[in-house]
Amino acid sequence: MSRTDRPSGPAGPVPYEWREDVPVENTLRLPARAGRELVMLDTAPSVFSDPEVGQWLADPAVQVIGGGSNLVFVAPVVGRAVRVAASRSWMTAKAVSAVKVVVEAGKGLDELVRETAVEGWYGLEALAEIPGTVGAAPVQNVGAYGTEIGERVVWVEAYDRLEGRLRRLSAEECAFGYRSSRFKRETGRWLITRVALSLSRERPDGWPPATYPGVADALADWAARNGREPESITPLEYAEIITRIRRRKLPDWRRGWPGSVGSFFQNPVVSVQRAAELRRRWPAMPQFELCGGDGVKLSAGWLIEQAGWKGQREGNVGVSPEHALVLLHHGGASGEEFWSLARRVRDAVAATFGVTLQAEPRIIGVDATE
Ligand SMILES: Cc1cc2nc3c(=O)[nH]c(=O)nc-3n(C[C@H](O)[C@H](O)[C@H](O)COP(=O)(O)OP(=O)(O)OC[C@H]3O[C@@H](n4cnc5c(N)ncnc54)[C@H](O)[C@@H]3O)c2cc1C
Repeated sequence: MSRTDRPSGPAGPVPYEWREDVPVENTLRLPARAGRELVMLDTAPSVFSDPEVGQWLADPAVQVIGGGSNLVFVAPVVGRAVRVAASRSWMTAKAVSAVKVVVEAGKGLDELVRETAVEGWYGLEALAEIPGTVGAAPVQNVGAYGTEIGERVVWVEAYDRLEGRLRRLSAEECAFGYRSSRFKRETGRWLITRVALSLSRERPDGWPPATYPGVADALADWAARNGREPESITPLEYAEIITRIRRRKLPDWRRGWPGSVGSFFQNPVVSVQRAAELRRRWPAMPQFELCGGDGVKLSAGWLIEQAGWKGQREGNVGVSPEHALVLLHHGGASGEEFWSLARRVRDAVAATFGVTLQAEPRIIGVDATE
């Protein structure tokens, strides 16, 4: 993390480059190639006034690709693509209690979490071990263990492909919600280039966060083993606890098999009345009231398990035995084979409970509502 108030030095000898017929890496490990890809090696505003860049970004068929951890390639070829590879980060303001960091979109989110935790800054530690880039994180407002990236965002700088200009959006303008944001709703409009985050240099109220049972147990265990009070845990130590919990539950996204995109379906939200009907029929169904009382969140994992799909394997694809929300690619499947499994899981839940699950990742090559 550079301690200057702007990127230290130029990003590289050229601000962008073109690549032809390149494989698109994705954690599901489905076959995918891009016919032509624009790779942004710098995010300086001047790069976006280059007519060649402007023309490419104006084309709505050009797909924005990040680290590929939330993409499902039902069709194996993306014609045209753009990716921000620039990955510098720097600190722009430092007060006694807070620090502001600016990060280019191509930096790995997990790398940023670890770098800031090493500095002793509080705020991102619960997001440890989430794959993907910083640029994609605001898109679905990535979150885990009670923290969402949107809570830390000061602004997001993004190229508005509709208006053909770079814009800086405040956290409010990003309209973050549960696994959603303006960027996710306005598909194809934005290319996020930089994100500014505010982190705390002082232990925040309620530290350490322990509302999730697995985390509370791990913290108690950590405190007992180290002979320390849970409050004394550092952001880095907390990030390591989260990392261990996640590695036990989720497939390794860095390498090997099976491939996955993490949770495949969003937890559905139903009306209070519908939730009551469902509860009468299935008294054990977990339900979580949303703030403001405008709906009830159901557990997609529970619905899938009850519909009989947890741990099922069909050919090269299946549903994780540990985590019913995670669909797996064991190797050798086509995008269509994987998508057919996802549809059958979704249809089984709809037939059992009358609740339609929505896919969380971006589905490429087919209408996700089909
Ligand atoms: C094992 C595993 C665990 C996971 N756990 C979690 C979790 O706990 N919480 C969570 O929220 N998510 C989780 N995910 C999902 C995933 O990590 C996030 O969605 C992540 O933000 C995707 O980042 P990416 O760079 O890989 O984006 P990609 O998969 O490449 O793209 C995802 C979406 O973001 C868009 N996008 C990418 N970069 C940009 C950009 N610069 N500007 C504009 N749009 C862009 C793409 O067009 C696409 O719509 C998990 C995934 C895996 C594989």
